[in-house]
Amino acid sequence: MPNTLQIDQDDPARQVALANNIRPSILGLDKAELTAIAENMGEKAYRGAQIFQWVYNRGVQSFEDMSDLPNDFRDRLTDTYTISRPESVQEQISEDGTRKWLFGYRDRQKAETVFIPEDERGTLCISSQVGCTLTCRFCHTGTQRLVRNLTAGEIIGQVMAARDSLGEWPTPTDGTRALTNIVLMGMGEPLYNFDEVAKAMRIVMAGDGIAVSRRKITLSTSGVVPEIKRCGEELRVNLAISLHAANDETRNMLMPINKKYPLKDLMEACRNYPGVSSARRITLEYVMLKGINDSEQDARDLVKLVKDVHCKFNLIPFNSWPGTPYECSSTKTIGRFQDILARASITCPIRTPRGRDILAACGQLKTNSEKLSVRERKAQAEKAWAEKEAEL
Ligand code: SAH
Ligand code: SF4
Repeated sequence: MPNTLQIDQDDPARQVALANNIRPSILGLDKAELTAIAENMGEKAYRGAQIFQWVYNRGVQSFEDMSDLPNDFRDRLTDTYTISRPESVQEQISEDGTRKWLFGYRDRQKAETVFIPEDERGTLCISSQVGCTLTCRFCHTGTQRLVRNLTAGEIIGQVMAARDSLGEWPTPTDGTRALTNIVLMGMGEPLYNFDEVAKAMRIVMAGDGIAVSRRKITLSTSGVVPEIKRCGEELRVNLAISLHAANDETRNMLMPINKKYPLKDLMEACRNYPGVSSARRITLEYVMLKGINDSEQDARDLVKLVKDVHCKFNLIPFNSWPGTPYECSSTKTIGRFQDILARASITCPIRTPRGRDILAACGQLKTNSEKLSVRERKAQAEKAWAEKEAEL
């Protein structure tokens, strides 16, 4: 089989494909790379843009369907590549309509993707890594080892496969889209895989691609301070920060990354985030943990901490998972906490948990889970955190 693919040979999925003589998928290739493929195959450069549009805007899954390409070029593309998506290993639908997919990649690694339909919009929550290197104590993914970064193809593949499942091709232009927003809030830390995330998001944002505007894309980070500026300059998408504590002591305990990038540096990065303004605020995510970060003093400290930051809060009731040491704050406590922020004129809605019954809510994602007792799970979580921290 001819192999004209000269791009991205480090991509693990492509290596598996090539080693097994499986045609590689072109998902994740941008217009310049598709143009290079067309030229390498002796075709005119503009064929690259045509393929781009067929793949990312019209969602075709076969080169045969690209009706404005010459027949013999379509045949040669079919012999050499696929447009295949990640395999949907499992799809679950929650009683509230939330859908969760477990997508499998060519090297058999798996990661989860969640679609949350609401009245006015539909949000796809995508993963950037298999597992996560960080060890945030309240997060289920944090108990899972980092297996690897997802490639741009695997990141955009989640969007493509979700839209296949929603039956949303070609991209509707009449305002009837089901999938309107994208959040990088699934498994992994997107700013530890920025290049691949950025490449995928550029395809998502392209008008002749998936065509979701940067205003409808939100990247959530645990606070990788050096990469925050780059995200604002290069992608200009909305930023969300997993804040979760009002002081360094609590944050160090809940999110060990805070020891590297403490609150002072994080707030500075938020103040300087390119494009931030009172009309375009940073979202500060705050998970409500009973007796840990939910006191009235915590709320007052937060008001001081974010005094000169253009921000809004998202108060997230803690979503439980098997083996967690934490509990969610009571409704009354969350209400009091919200009142203190609101009195300081801070927007602070309480996020309604979605898809809890299928473990699709924030922080519940984890792949390869085994059947264990609660005590075994607790021990497993402690062990995983200790091992990961020893490696950091
Ligand atoms: N790694 C990135 C993005 C993925 S986490 C980050 O940390 O921002 C997505 C959001 O879910 C984050 O705000 C995270 O702090 C929050 N979260 C994690 N575990 C949670 C849980 N058990 N309950 C509620 N929210 C949780
Ligand atoms: Fe990783 Fe985010 Fe979970 Fe922390 S909250 S462990 S950074 S996925």
